Amino acid sequence: MHAEIISVGTELTAGTKLDTNSQWLSLELAEIGIPVLAHMTIADELDEMVGALRTAAERSEIVLMTGGLGPTLDDLTRDALAKFAGVELILHEQSLEYIKSMFAKRNRPMPERNVMQAMFPLGSDPLPNPRGTAPGIWMTYRRADGTLSNIAAMPGVPSEMKQMFRQQVLPRLDGSGQVIRRARINLFGVGESQAEEALGDLTARGRDPDVGITVHEATITLRITAAASSIDECHQKIEKTREIVLNRMGTLVFGVEDEELEHALVRLLKLRRASLSTAESGTGGLLAHRLTGVPGFESCYMGGVVVPTNLAKRELVSVDPMLIRQYGPISQEVALACAKGCRQRFGTHFALAVTEWPNFDPDDPLAPFPASFVALAGPNHSKVEKVQHFGDPAIAKSRTAKVAMNMLRLYLIEG
Ligand code: ATP
Ligand code: MG
Repeated sequence: MHAEIISVGTELTAGTKLDTNSQWLSLELAEIGIPVLAHMTIADELDEMVGALRTAAERSEIVLMTGGLGPTLDDLTRDALAKFAGVELILHEQSLEYIKSMFAKRNRPMPERNVMQAMFPLGSDPLPNPRGTAPGIWMTYRRADGTLSNIAAMPGVPSEMKQMFRQQVLPRLDGSGQVIRRARINLFGVGESQAEEALGDLTARGRDPDVGITVHEATITLRITAAASSIDECHQKIEKTREIVLNRMGTLVFGVEDEELEHALVRLLKLRRASLSTAESGTGGLLAHRLTGVPGFESCYMGGVVVPTNLAKRELVSVDPMLIRQYGPISQEVALACAKGCRQRFGTHFALAVTEWPNFDPDDPLAPFPASFVALAGPNHSKVEKVQHFGDPAIAKSRTAKVAMNMLRLYLIEG
């Protein structure tokens, strides 16, 4: 058994609105073990909608539709369902009473067009909509070979659709009897292909549980998906895979689920009762922004300064102007001086500093990769790292801030 999803609306096919309903519904269906075969997005065009319904109902046992149930002339889902099934639209009195009551509650007269929302293809069932006026439609279609396909049409408004799906549609669907559980493990410090190589057979297709890799702003996320007949069994499978990942990837792993590097760093700093401050040029305060976003950061993050100019470097973190003249602002010497000055200024155990980097054009194949420097100053140790900016300039700030946080994270773990 499988499902497919048809989302309706010219705003979707025109690209002015993103179809998030299909994504949400697919994740919900996966939870009850129903795979999704296809997504279709159709403009507000009657014949194209009928065609999509025919294709979907002939190949899938479950067809979920969203959008086009409203009262306006371009809302054609009910007409498409009737035409597809070859039946008339008939008035459902109870739905009309309900729609009238919704308008009465808001002290507004019901426009004549809203009567349309109480019209249903003969043989279909209305699906109540406690959040809006448009009821959904449940319909069973008998295919040429005598087997059945169930069709549920729901409103396009995401909040109405979600409630209707959970309350009305989900109980009518028989899952495969399997439950699905997911877990995420987050890594930093290697490229995607390196990670894949190190993981070896773990990411092979068809492995149980399934392990997928995604990258977001240089953070690698491993997504483990386990299917089993019970939640416990899913958790056991996930746990086994998690152990293998930890064994193979070691300290590259910094967190799970929604945890970012700053969460891992704040946790470690608290554990060591250590404090941190930051001095940033190229990242413009992103380190401070991220660190102050972690609940409870106040016990270890003491503050930061933004030092994009020579003057700021001198005034705020006491960098000797001679040093900047000698090595330039983008140098390991200046990065280290910023970190040491920052540590002094805030009186913290550790300080992280980031230099600026030149603008770069990723489309120029001859240009050398620009680089920035990231420095760590500690009680008896300081360290500096060069960060090369290849790839998307839009993620350069985020990646550099992460390199800085990761540097201290690894120092706190490994010494
Ligand atoms: P209404 O009674 O509000 O008219 P409807 O069923 O006719 O409901 P639409 O008119 O198609 O729904 O869409 C209503 C709202 O929901 C619009 O803002 C639309 O952009 C949004 N919407 C519709 N389909 C989707 C979708 N697939 N993903 C995300 N948003 C959607
Ligand atoms: Mg509408």
